[in-house]
Amino acid sequence: MRQTLPVADSAQVRRHARRLARRHPRPLLIALGLHALAAATGLAAPRLIGGLVEDVQRGTTAAAVNQVILLVAVFVVAQSLLTRWARFRSFSLGEQVLAELREDFVDDALALPIGTVERAGTGDLLSRTSRDVDTLSRTVRFAVPETIIAFVTVLFTVAAALLVGVWILLPLLAMVPVLAISTRWYLRRAKDGYLRENAAYAQMTSSLAETVEGARTVEALRRSEERVRRTDRDIRGSYDAERYTLHLRTVWFPVVEVGYLVPVVGTLLFGGWLHINGHVTLGAVTAGVLYVNQLIDPVDRLISWMDELQSGGAALARLLGITDVPDDRSPSGKQPAGELVEARDVRFSYVDGRDVLHGVNLTVQPGERIAMVGPSGAGKSTLGRLVAGIHPPRTGSVSVGGVGMTDLPLDELRRQVALVTQEHHVFVGTLRDNLSMAAPDADDERLLAALDAVDAREWTEALPDGLDTRVGSGQLALTPAQAQQLALARLVLADPHTLVLDEATSLIDPRAARHMERSLAAVLEGRTVIAIAHRLYTAHDADRVAVVEDGRISELGSHDELVARDGSYAALWKSWHG
Ligand code: ADP
Repeated sequence: MRQTLPVADSAQVRRHARRLARRHPRPLLIALGLHALAAATGLAAPRLIGGLVEDVQRGTTAAAVNQVILLVAVFVVAQSLLTRWARFRSFSLGEQVLAELREDFVDDALALPIGTVERAGTGDLLSRTSRDVDTLSRTVRFAVPETIIAFVTVLFTVAAALLVGVWILLPLLAMVPVLAISTRWYLRRAKDGYLRENAAYAQMTSSLAETVEGARTVEALRRSEERVRRTDRDIRGSYDAERYTLHLRTVWFPVVEVGYLVPVVGTLLFGGWLHINGHVTLGAVTAGVLYVNQLIDPVDRLISWMDELQSGGAALARLLGITDVPDDRSPSGKQPAGELVEARDVRFSYVDGRDVLHGVNLTVQPGERIAMVGPSGAGKSTLGRLVAGIHPPRTGSVSVGGVGMTDLPLDELRRQVALVTQEHHVFVGTLRDNLSMAAPDADDERLLAALDAVDAREWTEALPDGLDTRVGSGQLALTPAQAQQLALARLVLADPHTLVLDEATSLIDPRAARHMERSLAAVLEGRTVIAIAHRLYTAHDADRVAVVEDGRISELGSHDELVARDGSYAALWKSWHG
């Protein structure tokens, strides 16, 4: 079963929401003040109209009526102007908060230990970066400001209604149980419902991505039908989850609609009865009914945004969950003394209780070339990743210059050791951006020298804008070999003294292979290299060969020594060399 990334609990979400609100106290107060002012101007009309009804009852002139109407018009215009201004302020505050949330999320996502992301599947992280961020942006952009506006309006309108007559409290209170009970019923179920909906969606994305990425394997192993069944199952899961929340809404919404009408009818009937018995004026009943009617809109908005706030809360919980992943790096502040790379009694497991490395010892001298050979699944790549500091060992230590790889901050680690694989992503941006990410303060001269070192200077200088040429998806497309050269140039710039080289994956297009081999050789020059060798002549040329079998180093020595020893390596060499 796949472990998903954690989800934050409600207390964490609330704490974070409060922290966000407190980050911008001034803009928040201004927006609130403007909304309060707008709500207050909206309260004049019912009072004026109520007065008008009484005046008409008593007898008045057309001029006096016109005057009141004009006054109502002035208040309406003032209210709409104030509302516009208030909305503008609160929406721009929303955008600001949203931008910060996105930035925080990118920081958190980038700080995630790779091991954790791999265990959870990239689909989970992907759906959090796309769907949950979208949901949250809707919430922050609309739901939060609208809720605040509605809340302020409700507060003011209720106060104004009670000023007309305390008796209005009775019909108003009649609305409370209907709304409270149905909304409670809904909210109790909604959070889990929406979390389930998002999780089901993530599951679907995740397994679809897996199917697409592994399409060849799926076909080769004739697993297509199984994958189709699996996709069907995921879609059904997602469908059921969506259907459940839809069911919740179809029950809740109609009940709420009825709830709104209760106080309007109640005020009319109760007020009418009071008026007939001479307790209140007709004007008060008119104003009261108008206020209560005016309340429907903001209460409705308040309640319907609650729905959105719920899904926003669920999205925020998933986004914040990422910060809950325990960091697998623990920077100690110690500086490596020297370049000696050493693995001592290293044990490691991907899945609890199943070690794939069982006590590996390996000391690599600066400048040495080590080739790791052995059957597939023996643990070579795993050991390589541990040496590159991607995973911490379960027990034992992997260190450079006496400091554990995972005790080094990431940028320091990258100056020591780098893992070279076939993943050579071209980032959208200029060529210079793509290079200087490895060495932020490098000048053009250094960048060009690095390109020169990997034999790429010629084609980059021939580009229309040189280093300023925009590359990456949607821009100038680079060939795989050029992308690989860029990656190698980045290595030259980062200048780590030790490289872990996964040959199987760093192999490139055979047509470009010769050329690339020269570029690669230039990068390896003068560095310590630990190569996961898939071609035995790499082993032949290495200073020492480590034979990895079943999670252990079974033989270690130079090619000649190992051939002379007549063990597994000798057998391997013989079978390969014929
Ligand atoms: P090699 O590089 O020698 O082929 P690996 O280091 O890739 O071997 O794999 C060693 C063992 O660890 C294998 O049993 C493999 O199935 C397991 N393994 C590798 N990667 C993972 C992973 N991400 N999650 C779980 N098990 C893994």
